[in-house]
Amino acid sequence: MSDERPIQLKVQKKLVISSGKVCIVHDSSVCGESAKLGNLSDHSFAQIRNAVAIRQSQPSEGARKTDICGAVPDQFNPDVHGVHWECYQKFHKYC
Ligand SMILES: [Zn+2]
Repeated sequence: MSDERPIQLKVQKKLVISSGKVCIVHDSSVCGESAKLGNLSDHSFAQIRNAVAIRQSQPSEGARKTDICGAVPDQFNPDVHGVHWECYQKFHKYC
């Protein structure tokens, strides 16, 4: 009569932190997902938030870029937030 106790393996749940950051102003019309992601500084983040505010006040639908603006985070987390330069420049350039 064997009475072996199953050994319980403790599976550590790791937070999924993919190596990839995300582009917070991604615009698939200017760059592909595989484009190199750049680091975002506090200053650049502030510029993006500023551009969001300006875009939101634009009368034209095209200039507002609601989908992109809606995806811009309120708070900057350098561990997960980055930008593609192409996306940044396109977004930051307002009329
Ligand atoms: Zn992008």
